[in-house]
Amino acid sequence: MFNKILVANRGEIACRVIRTAKRLGIKTVAVYSAADAGAQHVSMADEAFAIGPAPARDSYLDAEKLVAVAKRANAEAIHPGYGFLSENAGFARACADDGIVFIGPPAGAIEAMGSKSAAKSLMQKAGVPVVPGYHGADQAARLLLKEAEKIGFPVMIKATAGGGGKGMRAVESAKAFNDALQAAKREALSSFNDDNVLIEKYIGKPRHMEIQIFCDNHGNAVHLFERDCSIQRRHQKVLEEAPAPGLDNEKRATMGKTAIAAARAIDYAGAGTVEFIVAEDGAFYFMEMNTRLQVEHPVTELITGQDLVEWQLLVAAGESLPATQEQLSINGHALEARIYAEDPGNHFLPSIGRLNHLRFPNDSTHIRVDAGVRQGDSITIHYDPMIAKLIAWGSDRTNCLRRMREALGQTQVAGVITNINFLASIISHEAFQSADFDTGFIERRQADLFPGAVNIDILGLAALHQVLEREKSAADYAATSPDPTSPWHLTDNWQPNLVTEERFRFHDGTREHEIKITPAPPSRKELSNATTPSPPEGESLGINEGHPTTPSPLEGENLGKGEFMTPCHDNPLSLPCRSKYLIQTDDQLIRAAGRLDQDNQLTATLDNERLHVTIIKNDQQLTLFHAGSTHRLDIISDSDHADDGQATGNLMSPMPGRIIEVMATQGQQVKQGDALLILEAMKMEHAITAPHDGVVQSLHYSAGDLVDEGVELLLLADHGTPLH
Ligand code: ADP
Ligand code: ADP
Ligand code: MG
Repeated sequence: MFNKILVANRGEIACRVIRTAKRLGIKTVAVYSAADAGAQHVSMADEAFAIGPAPARDSYLDAEKLVAVAKRANAEAIHPGYGFLSENAGFARACADDGIVFIGPPAGAIEAMGSKSAAKSLMQKAGVPVVPGYHGADQAARLLLKEAEKIGFPVMIKATAGGGGKGMRAVESAKAFNDALQAAKREALSSFNDDNVLIEKYIGKPRHMEIQIFCDNHGNAVHLFERDCSIQRRHQKVLEEAPAPGLDNEKRATMGKTAIAAARAIDYAGAGTVEFIVAEDGAFYFMEMNTRLQVEHPVTELITGQDLVEWQLLVAAGESLPATQEQLSINGHALEARIYAEDPGNHFLPSIGRLNHLRFPNDSTHIRVDAGVRQGDSITIHYDPMIAKLIAWGSDRTNCLRRMREALGQTQVAGVITNINFLASIISHEAFQSADFDTGFIERRQADLFPGAVNIDILGLAALHQVLEREKSAADYAATSPDPTSPWHLTDNWQPNLVTEERFRFHDGTREHEIKITPAPPSRKELSNATTPSPPEGESLGINEGHPTTPSPLEGENLGKGEFMTPCHDNPLSLPCRSKYLIQTDDQLIRAAGRLDQDNQLTATLDNERLHVTIIKNDQQLTLFHAGSTHRLDIISDSDHADDGQATGNLMSPMPGRIIEVMATQGQQVKQGDALLILEAMKMEHAITAPHDGVVQSLHYSAGDLVDEGVELLLLADHGTPLH
C-alpha cells in the first residue's frame, strides 16, 4: 500500500478520499487554488500546496503542475476524484511517465470510452446491447438526417465527446432536425472542442440504471449492483438510489454480467460505471462508461458495506479485489440527494454567495453527510455549485425515504439559494414514493414540485422578526447606556393613544408581498397591569391559574381569559413589551406575538398556533427555516425602486461566454425579472433577466453562440405592442 498520495481535486470528493486514506494510515497531500486557500480539504490533509489562480484551467486542470507537486511532496500516487482530470488519458499517461501511480484505469481504457461513438462500436463487438443508431465518422448533415430517418423519429443527437448532459438534443421530426443538429454541434464545439455527433433512437420514458464495476490487475472483476439515477433535470442526476426499485434479481445479474463484459473488452482496472438506459419494455442498452469514481458512489457503499475508495487504493497498489462476487450482497436501501447552490424556480441557475449559516444533520449509521464546505465558505463562479451530498440508509425503501426527508429538513443553508425544498418535494411526492418514475419525472411533474408563493405565516414571521429585532437591539443599547431608564429608550411603540403601523415588502423569488404589522390595541387590563409592579418573569400570573406551568409564556402572548402580558426581559422599566401584533396582507389577518432569542430562534404564536423558526438575516435577506423547509425573502426597501426603468444595461453580456439557452422570443411581452436567456461562463450558468417590463424587440444570438463581454444580447423595449 502507498505511504502518501496526492488528491488532485477539491470540495467534497477531496475530503471523501482523504477520510479513507487517513483511516488506512496513508498520508495525504492536498492541492488548492487561490480561491480555496481556506477550504476544508486543505485543512484535512497532512500537507497542502498552492497550485495557482482560481480558474480551474490554471490550477486543478494543470496536469504538469500536479505531477510536479506530487514529485516534490514524494507522493507515490494521485487520486483524481471525479470531474477535472479524472477522465483525462493524457494526465493518466503523464503520471505514469513520471513514475507516479494514477489511481484510476489505464490510459488506454479511458481513451476507449472517451468517445461515445467509438465506445459504442467497441461494445457492439463485445456483444453488449447498444441503443440502435448511427455512430460513424461521416458527419455530413445530409447523411446524418438520412440516418435519423432510418432510425425513425424521435431521435437523440449526442456529442461523441459529451458529458454532463451537454451537446445533447432530442429531435421530434425531420423538420426540426437541422436546427437541433447545428445547436448540438455548436454546444459540443465550445464545451469539448469537438463537434462530432452520433444519432440514436430516442428511448421514450426510460429509466437510467448504472452498474458499479471493479476490476483488478489479476484478472478479477465484480459488479457491486446497480444505482437508479432516473431523477434528472436537463439530463443531469438529482437523486440516486440503490437498489433500483422493481429490478428483479435475474435482470440484475444479467446487467451486472453485461457491465463486466464491457469492462473486460477494454482491459479495465479500478472503479468504473457502466450506464444503461432501460426502455419501458425492460430492454436495456449501453449508453456510456464513466471511467472513474462516480458522484453517487456512496449509495453503493451503504448497501454493500464496502468502501470504494479503499478498493481503488488497493487495486492501484497492485493488490487483488477485496471481495468476490459471491461475497457481495445488497443490504437495505440507500438514497443520495445532491444539495446544490442553485435555484430550481429559475431554471436551476447556480446561486453564488457566502454560506452564512450551514447546518447538517449529524452523521449516524443511517445518515451520511459528504460535504466539502464549512460555514463561511463561498460558492464561487469558478467551480461546480454542489454544497454537499446527503445519503440515507434504511432497511427498506420506505424507511430510507423517511430518513432522507427528515435529514433534508435538518439541513440549513443561508446565503445562497439551494435545491433543498425541491429535493424534499420530490421525495415527498406520491409517485416517487411508489417508485412510479422515469427520466421525465421532474419535467412532467413540475407543477407539483415547484412550490408556490410563500404563505402569510412565513411573511408574518419575517415581519415579526424585523420588529422584534429592532426592539431587541434598541433594548440592548438602552441597557448599556448611561441612563438606562431614559424614556427615549422605549422601543416598544407603546403609545396608548397612537396606533402605529409598519409596512414591509418582501420578495420571495417569484413575487413581491406587502405586509402590514400593527401593534394590537391593548386591552384595559393590560394597561392597568402596566402601571402595577410586575410579577417576576415566568412566574404564574395569578389570574392565569388555569395554566400555571405553561413553559415561559411569550411576551404579549394571550395567557388565557385574563389577557395579561408577561413583562419583557430587556425592558429596564419592567413595562410589558408591546409585542402583540396584527399582521395583514391584502386578504388575510392574523394575530401574532413572539420572542427572539440570541441564537436566531424566533418563538411565535400566530393566531393560536405556536411556531419555532430559525431566522438568519444577512444584509437585506432573511432565510427562515421552518418545519423542515427553507424560505428566502429579500427585504425590499424604498430605494430599491428608485432606479426603475433605467437598468437597461443588464442586457449586455456581463462576461465572455456561450449562450446555452434562449427563452425569450421576439415580440414577447416580459415582466421584470423574467429570465430571457442563459449564458454559460467559467463552467457556470448565468441568467440574463429583464431589467423592466417590456417587449422583446430583437434577439441577437441563439443557443450555442459565443459572445464577448459587453455585447448587446437582445433589445428590450420599455413599451410597445407585443408582436404576434
Ligand atoms: P452524459 O455523458 O452527458 O452523462 P449520457 O449519454 O450518459 O450523457 O446521457 C445522459 C442522460 O440523457 C441519460 O441518463 C438519459 O436520461 C438521457 N438519454 C441519453 N440517451 C438517451 C436516449 N437515447 N433516449 C432517451 N434519453 C436518453
Ligand atoms: P455523473 O454525474 O454521472 O457522475 P458527470 O460527467 O455529469 O457525471 O459529472 C460528474 C460530476 O462531477 C458532476 O456532477 C459535477 O458535479 C462534477 N464536476 C464536473 N466537472 C467538474 C469540475 N470542473 N469541477 C468540479 N466538479 C465537477
Ligand atoms: Mg452519463
